[in-house]
Amino acid sequence: MPEKKAVVFCSASFDIDERFNDLARDVVRILFGCGYGMVSGGTVKGTMNVIAGEALRLGMEHKGVLPVFMKGVEYRGLTELVWTETMAERKEEMRAGTCLAVALPGGIGTLDEVIETLTLAKLGRYPGKVVAFNFEGFYEPLKALLDHYVETGMLDRPSRRLIYFPETLDDFLACVQ
Ligand code: AMP
Repeated sequence: MPEKKAVVFCSASFDIDERFNDLARDVVRILFGCGYGMVSGGTVKGTMNVIAGEALRLGMEHKGVLPVFMKGVEYRGLTELVWTETMAERKEEMRAGTCLAVALPGGIGTLDEVIETLTLAKLGRYPGKVVAFNFEGFYEPLKALLDHYVETGMLDRPSRRLIYFPETLDDFLACVQ
């Protein structure tokens, strides 16, 4: 696994539009091009399956982290597979050793993962960069919520600046280089 590792949080859904999966493939290619190894949820579900396939095609190092109760949905062909007892341990293990956390458009699991990571960054417990790909405005509601927190004093401005919202592949590349 390269020294530079990025954890990618993404959708487990099969019901999303294919353009979200095309974005995911582009993101994997950019990360690979920048010399990152990747860590993900490592399942065959939704966008996770898509990024695993792209990493395999590229020959990119890719660690998958799954809780034992998901046995049977692991993606076969990852460079490394790690099993955890709980979802909480899974998130911890996914982040371990990474210097970048990327949330692609996703559902509540992805939201949970990125917000937990941002909270840890705020507390100085996650040293990496936190990025939510605001593809076609997908994360505008989250941005608005965080800004609302700042306006109401619930979140300090320096912590709000710990999360980046790139909108294009060029923005994303500039963020992760
Ligand atoms: P979601 O964004 O709700 O589709 O959930 C996907 C994210 O949460 C992934 O990054 C996984 O780590 C985790 N997750 C939530 N639900 C599942 C599931 N059914 N199978 C695998 N991973 C899941």
